[in-house]
Amino acid sequence: MDTEQIRRKWVDFFQKRGHKLIPSSSLVPHGDPTLLFTSAGMVQFKPYFMGQAEPPAPRMVSIQKCFRTSDIDSVGDATHLTFFEMLGNFSVGDYFKKEAIEWAWELVTDPKEGIGLDPDKLWISVYLDDDEAAGHWRALGVPEERIRRYGEEDNYWFSGDVGPCGPCSEIHYDYGLTDGCPECAKGACHPQIDCGRFTEIWNLVFTMYYQNEDGSRSDLPQKNIDTGAGLERWASVLQGKRTVYETDLFRPIISLIEDVSGFGPGHDGLKTGMSGEKSESGVEVRRSKRIIAEHARAVTLLIADGVMPSNDDRGYVLRRILRRAIAYGRRLGLNRPFLADVADAVVKLYGTEYPELVQNGKFIARVIGLEEERFLDTLTQGEAQLAVFLADRVMDEKALAGKHVFLLSDTYGFPVELTAELAAEQGVEIDLEGFEREMDAQRARARAAARFRLSEAESAEAYAALSHIQARFVGYETRCHETTIAGIIAGGGTVESAEEGDEAEVVLFETPFYAESGGQVGDIGEISGPAGRFQVQDTQRTEGGLILHRGRVVEGRISVNDDVVAQVDAEKCRDTARNHTGTHLLHAALRRVLGPHARQAGSLVSPERLRFDFTHIEALKPDELAAVQRLVNEKIRENLPVRTRRTSYEEATAGGATALFDDKYAAEVRVVEVPEEEEDERYSAELCGGTHVQSTGEIGSLIIVSEESVGAGMRRIEALTGRGAEEYVRGRLAALDRLGARLGVPGGPAELEQRVDSLLDEMESLNKRVRVLERELGRHTAESLLKDVENVDGSAVLAARVPATSPETLREMGDWLRGHLKSAVVVLGTIVGGRPSFLAMVTPDLTARGLHAGDLVKKVAQVTGGGGGGRPEMAQAGGVEAARLDDALRLARKLSMEGIKALRGS
Ligand code: ATP
Ligand code: MG
Repeated sequence: MDTEQIRRKWVDFFQKRGHKLIPSSSLVPHGDPTLLFTSAGMVQFKPYFMGQAEPPAPRMVSIQKCFRTSDIDSVGDATHLTFFEMLGNFSVGDYFKKEAIEWAWELVTDPKEGIGLDPDKLWISVYLDDDEAAGHWRALGVPEERIRRYGEEDNYWFSGDVGPCGPCSEIHYDYGLTDGCPECAKGACHPQIDCGRFTEIWNLVFTMYYQNEDGSRSDLPQKNIDTGAGLERWASVLQGKRTVYETDLFRPIISLIEDVSGFGPGHDGLKTGMSGEKSESGVEVRRSKRIIAEHARAVTLLIADGVMPSNDDRGYVLRRILRRAIAYGRRLGLNRPFLADVADAVVKLYGTEYPELVQNGKFIARVIGLEEERFLDTLTQGEAQLAVFLADRVMDEKALAGKHVFLLSDTYGFPVELTAELAAEQGVEIDLEGFEREMDAQRARARAAARFRLSEAESAEAYAALSHIQARFVGYETRCHETTIAGIIAGGGTVESAEEGDEAEVVLFETPFYAESGGQVGDIGEISGPAGRFQVQDTQRTEGGLILHRGRVVEGRISVNDDVVAQVDAEKCRDTARNHTGTHLLHAALRRVLGPHARQAGSLVSPERLRFDFTHIEALKPDELAAVQRLVNEKIRENLPVRTRRTSYEEATAGGATALFDDKYAAEVRVVEVPEEEEDERYSAELCGGTHVQSTGEIGSLIIVSEESVGAGMRRIEALTGRGAEEYVRGRLAALDRLGARLGVPGGPAELEQRVDSLLDEMESLNKRVRVLERELGRHTAESLLKDVENVDGSAVLAARVPATSPETLREMGDWLRGHLKSAVVVLGTIVGGRPSFLAMVTPDLTARGLHAGDLVKKVAQVTGGGGGGRPEMAQAGGVEAARLDDALRLARKLSMEGIKALRGS
């Protein structure tokens, strides 16, 4: 049964039993700050289990892309991958244990309805006291000795430290006795023993509790089912293979690696060292191939979901596995970039199932290729560094110091296991504990830095005291609103009132002020009450959802329970809205002009400007930038309506709305849409809680003012709209006018350009004449220097300060002097651009006897804090301290004389 058939079987089976098919969500979990990656099928359903949102249907089926950092170290074994696909069926308060178990058994064992595995090869595990689950399995005919009871470690499922959890029951496949396993030999082996005999193929979780932060458990609003089965493991069982790497999900990738490396299946037992040479302590070829294949697959799917290599969070994990794959590639002698080709094979293999791979195929290859080039560079440097560390260690047979391991990891990005393996090849161990200590120290530094950022921690208590106030945001409807002050925080605690001059944070029952989020800055404005006015300088939302108006009392006093008018600075607010809608138009234009890989990675929307970061490899070409700006302004002129509506996250993203990874999850999301002129298509659709204009015409115009790189594969555009754009253009035009006036061409840019061109021409010809004159002058100066020449043992010595304006003139003087002195040492010095510049010249008769212009000029230049050198006959150097030029020349004279005298008798 090929994988395609397994997928279909799974979905059909559950659809027939009333399940709604839900597409896989991204590997980057939407709005779940507790999770770095989607690690199981249930991740996207968490809010349903927690009763925070209505599920699209009580019964659901899915095939979910998953990524688990926790399994990185196991990769290379038969069954553990970082990226894998999880088949899942789910019940939200609908069916429970009985149906879940019966259906699982039917699907696994029934040859017609299901996949027809031999029931005798299946073992079951249940949680210690879960008699109910055990009873259901027994009723299906599973013999008692193949139903095992395990503790929390194996049969209790947690979706993280906090979140839904519950007992579970697993199905294990029995591959048959393992040679060399003592338990197998005794006939006592069971699924908990790790001898390779058993593979867990399906886990049924009975999700009925919620694990709280303090470790206690509470009941969920209803009982749920959450199951997960590894597609790759199913494929290996059904295709009669012992490992996932022999299945159709990996074969083509492994083949490609075998082709490019030349290490075919025949080499699998071989051990290799760095650069692929045979080595006793190296890594097995087969394991290297598996790790490369696995990581290449994971990397490809992660990048397709918008993760980019970086130094923190998800990007760091991506970078780590990418580098690991490269390092293992070196084990197979792959010292040049090769991973992008492997990624291509992944795109081909998975393109039908995941079209985003094909859409972003070129981009993925570029990202991987660039990262590879970069890492191969540091790898070479790091290896040199490691060799130095190791040379010391080999001598006195100590472990490689933790701080050195840390340095390699921190500076050169060496995965620790790579360092360990490289060191092992030299018979040196690494000090892992020392390394961990260094890592802890670094983490502590990071924490300290984070604490500093949260310097308002002392306010946390005050916020908690006000946490019952969930202010309603009315800013979409109005900018000016009558409401009541619910609380005031000042000096780190709650207060009853604040006086003129006091800095404070004000909490209102309802507010038209937009709190900073989604890249849009917080609103500013004023809150005025019966006895005073409060100027709002910023609006922020706390973790707990409290909306804080930050600012200062500018008149009288404000008190809790005051009835006030909260008034957003309307003009600034409109500026912000123009920039925000402008950002959406820009995002859509970038995707159309550059391709769908150009995704939002961050943004800042303020009244003054907008800044937009997105994923793209290279600088935008001028015509691309022009096309983007043109398209945005076209949409502005079409004066399209900007519509907002509320819908479910699934509906919104299925309809193609772009969502930001890090947005907080909300059961109901707000979609901001701009239709195409023909109305039935959308030009832009984004999940967004920000404030926007009513129709695009209000934006006036958008002008891109800069485009630059902000890290690998990341670009940043800054742009202006509305009043800002107008001001910008006016400023530019005024500058043109001023230039025109100064250059005496009032006619406009075309004439100005002509005038500048002719000025540049004129300057060039003047420069040429200056050069000719300088050369002339140089010759005269050189001629006049002849009288200062001193004679030492029949050779001329000259060390002089000359009025040359460039190193070239200096050289010309040197050449002239050489032509006129038969045997000589000449050092000339001058000041160019405020800094000393030197030239030394030695005639061939003296160089033949060992005098060296390069050595001489170097010593001379050092007096002025500089350096340089060159050939024995002629050398130039520069310095720093102009004031020491004469000192340097005095030294030059002395050294020259001594040099010649030293030749006496030689
Ligand atoms: P294992 O004990 O084998 O690591 P697990 O208990 O971590 O598995 P679950 O978290 O219950 O697994 O995940 C559900 C199913 O997903 C498993 O039964 C298995 O089929 C599959 N699975 C889990 N982890 C991986 C992985 N790293 N690679 C491939 N498949 C996996
Ligand atoms: Mg596991």
